[in-house]
Amino acid sequence: MNPTRVRPVPVAAAALLCLLAVMWQPLAAQRSQAALPRVHFVATGGTISNREGGRLTAGELAKSMPGVERYARLTHEQFTNIASSELTLAQWLGLAKRINEVFATDKELAGIVVTSGTDTLEETAFFLHLTVRDPRPVVVVGSMRNPSTVGYEGAANLLEGVRVAADPAARNKGALVVLNDEINSARNVTKSDALRLQTFRSREYGQLGVVDRDRVVFFNQIVQRHNEQSEFDINKVSELPRVDVIMVYQGASGDLIKAAVDNGAKGIVIAVAGAGATSGTQNDGLTYAASKGVFIVTSTRTGSGRIAPPQRQGDGGPAFQLSPEQQKRRQFTIAGEDHTPIKARVLLMVALTKTTDRNELQRIFSEY
Ligand code: GLU
Repeated sequence: MNPTRVRPVPVAAAALLCLLAVMWQPLAAQRSQAALPRVHFVATGGTISNREGGRLTAGELAKSMPGVERYARLTHEQFTNIASSELTLAQWLGLAKRINEVFATDKELAGIVVTSGTDTLEETAFFLHLTVRDPRPVVVVGSMRNPSTVGYEGAANLLEGVRVAADPAARNKGALVVLNDEINSARNVTKSDALRLQTFRSREYGQLGVVDRDRVVFFNQIVQRHNEQSEFDINKVSELPRVDVIMVYQGASGDLIKAAVDNGAKGIVIAVAGAGATSGTQNDGLTYAASKGVFIVTSTRTGSGRIAPPQRQGDGGPAFQLSPEQQKRRQFTIAGEDHTPIKARVLLMVALTKTTDRNELQRIFSEY
């Protein structure tokens, strides 16, 4: 046989095989895409979208992550496109309701990513931690540098947020905050630096996990109640009560507390300097608040530590008789446990949508 002569049948077979392989590739890619978890992305704005000359939309942000198709199938929607501190409490309610609705109507969805400005991100994330009643993750991400800056880290943070939201290990952990390769619980995280990329810290509790090149890794669990164990049904709430935070500092005037009460506050978080003492005339302000039925949550401004519920008389509590005023104050005072004043405010607003019983409020502060 002439070795150079090509036999027609094997050639045709090889060509057919090549053709099938070429056709198979996109089909296989399509199949493996279909097997990927689905993640929904809700954009609210913030530095992550704040490009000079016009903010990036949810669609533009969704397209800004090279390689996202390896981890998840992404859908997106624009909720708002504003700075985090511009979000109103009505919009907070709307956001929580929308996320609850998306989860309720899409049982196959793996998780939700929310972009936010970083300034009040910890407050929004904690609100979602308390009010989204689903075990699937809500991952809040932002960035410290805007898209017009060299070293913009928004697309990287968003991609990491998508990877966490797609990961089954992220379930049952409440709302999560992902920036700078780190996963923090919305309950404990706080913005600790005005500018640095590593600003989001969980105080002495530590991060829950990290997003590494190969996989998402969790080291810690959150033990307090959240999400699907949450008793707060925000769908029935049309307005959050006013709660103000007032700081204790040397010689502070109680007038600010009175003004908050007179302007409709239903709760005051008093950010005490240590474990309970106020300064100046603030005690008069708090007595006034209690006389008007306004709840007072004591929380420490030190950044860590816990305010314990007051002990009863004869049970480790005060040996002396409380004055009627002091007794009244006690009926309206709740220990903020280990929540920072800002987080205590969010919890009190949410708790007041459910109860105005002091003991119930204290239970809530001890459980969440
Ligand atoms: N850091 C600001 C925030 O928390 C972002 C500023 C902006 O988006 O305009 O929202």
